[in-house]
Amino acid sequence: MLLSILGYDWEYLYNIYLQILSEVLVYVKNFALYICAWVLSYLLVCGAVYRRYARKLPTRIRGALGAKRVLIVIAHPDDECMFFGPTIFRLCEQGTDVHILCLSNGNFEGKGQVRRKELWSACQELGVPVENICLINDTRLQDSPKVQWPVPVIAKLIHHQLESLAVDTLVTFDRGGVSSHPNHSAVFYAVAFMFVEKIMPQNIFCDGQKAEE
Ligand SMILES: [Zn+2]
Repeated sequence: MLLSILGYDWEYLYNIYLQILSEVLVYVKNFALYICAWVLSYLLVCGAVYRRYARKLPTRIRGALGAKRVLIVIAHPDDECMFFGPTIFRLCEQGTDVHILCLSNGNFEGKGQVRRKELWSACQELGVPVENICLINDTRLQDSPKVQWPVPVIAKLIHHQLESLAVDTLVTFDRGGVSSHPNHSAVFYAVAFMFVEKIMPQNIFCDGQKAEE
């Protein structure tokens, strides 16, 4: 009655209500589309930037060392994957010239030939060219936790590789050999021996791989 007196009727108000509601819905729909388009554009830009730049950003090792040619010294086939896989993969991905010096053929269980092939296959997967793999088969360096590897022999082999390849970065085990294997630790002591005997070539950066806590 009052609304009629004021000149309004229910149908008129209902139409206004529907009009406002439809405009609000259109506004919400447009706003949602705008947000979706903005988020999608943002993700596309992030993806493009990542593909273009982020994969080439320096890792801790690359940035810290500026390594161009790296020698990874391992004791047995499989060490390259078990202990240095991410490092080798990342370095190869960045275009670093990675060389592997494997000091034995891993013949502990009489499977030296098999493990040798596995090393070659693993290196191919990691990105190391087969010509960059050097596997030593020396009777003094037999794969066994009970065999003490002569440190000067290892040092001589590493020294030869460092000099002949003009390596700028050496990566190997830490004192504990990561897994406490004596053959691994022997490599660390050989590198330490090279420093003590002052036969480590100049400008070599050494990084001992540490076990995960
Ligand atoms: Zn090993």
